[in-house]
Amino acid sequence: MSRPSSSEELQDSTDSSAAGFPPLTRAAVLACQFSSWYPTFRKHSPKATVIKPLEDRFIDYLESDGLFLPEGSGPMGVSELSDDEDSRNGSESEDDQSWQVTFPELDADIRRILTKYDGAVFPKLNWSSPQDAAWMIPGQALKCQCPADVYLLLKSSDFISHDLDHAFDECVDYEPEKEEESVQEEASAPPQDDLAQLAAQLALQEQETSATDSSDDEEALERPTRRRKSPYKFELVLKKWFDMPKSQEWRCFVKDRKLVAISQRDTNYYDFLQPEDVQADLRAKISAFFKDEIRDVFPSQSYVIDLYLTRGNDRLFIIDFNPYAPQTDALLFAWESLNALSPSAPSSSSSTPSPYPLLRVIDSPTMSSQTMPSFSHNRYPKDVVELSDGTSIADFAKEWAKKLEEGVK
Ligand code: ATP
Ligand code: MG
Repeated sequence: MSRPSSSEELQDSTDSSAAGFPPLTRAAVLACQFSSWYPTFRKHSPKATVIKPLEDRFIDYLESDGLFLPEGSGPMGVSELSDDEDSRNGSESEDDQSWQVTFPELDADIRRILTKYDGAVFPKLNWSSPQDAAWMIPGQALKCQCPADVYLLLKSSDFISHDLDHAFDECVDYEPEKEEESVQEEASAPPQDDLAQLAAQLALQEQETSATDSSDDEEALERPTRRRKSPYKFELVLKKWFDMPKSQEWRCFVKDRKLVAISQRDTNYYDFLQPEDVQADLRAKISAFFKDEIRDVFPSQSYVIDLYLTRGNDRLFIIDFNPYAPQTDALLFAWESLNALSPSAPSSSSSTPSPYPLLRVIDSPTMSSQTMPSFSHNRYPKDVVELSDGTSIADFAKEWAKKLEEGVK
């Protein structure tokens, strides 16, 4: 979501401030927050549970310097790092308060959700997943199997920092100073904002203390929290892990409630996506799904949807909604070109079929090899990456802590 684009290199233009974007409002950003859309589209989205609100202490932990695990968050409910405390120098660890942080309630919530989801989840905050920290796990995926995995991915990610501190930065109706004043007022004070849509979204946030999967016995995973200087509540989204072939993922651009373009989400070349009839079928399936299930329900005019088409090509799932804004990666399109499209203009001849939605796939192995690996600017030094080889995140953190002590950066 709203953060530096990872593949501007793929685009015709690298100017992320390209003209022609509709003004981005807070309401539009809030509509893309997971807990805003998930209850409405639950039947079309893979299972997920939201823990909300996250307590300030946890946000402070995520924002603190250093890579350390809360006590008790490892695979077996014990600290991954405390085993080593003796060898780390006992007196030093006693002095260092950061090693004593614990989140027992959050740990318990995460463990309960892990059990419900067969032991593996994919983590996100309100908008973003920590994809830039995926190097920490073998296979570069975000598969988490204990609370420590979740914490370290979130803590290591710049994308997550963006959700915490900069989600509304690009909004035309966001005045940070005014926001900070208003959140310090009484919790019962009515919203000062006169945007009806925003007020409705905020009200929805208040009611939806927990967006859950479809099971009826889901607990509300609400935790008390102090009021932080933020106009929205931080949430931890845990999606049930499933192996989603990248070749089946599509990013769809909606402008003025019209589906204008579809881009392959992966940067690899796939033979089976090349035939014209396969592409025509894909456009038809996605267009029908958009028209039947999304167009008249999603509150914004312009936005970007991520879809996953199951292997048998018979079912579409909604993976995410993103703002129609330069910070969302336009992948194989350039934002300038998307902004210049006018799908509402009458076509020159009524017999000419509409060109929309446009579809782009990687159409040659060369094009694929020219594309930059995702998030390459977030990669870490080689010796750090080698440390993570073949280990879980928790194991890696343990190794990392040791290396830090030895003076390895
Ligand atoms: P972006 O910044 O591109 O909008 P994001 O941070 O919003 O991404 P998602 O779109 O939710 O994150 O997921 C990113 C990728 O992670 C997806 O393209 C998919 O490959 C993978 N993924 C998403 N959900 C799951 C899941 N439940 N299990 C396994 N992998 C997943
Ligand atoms: Mg997204």
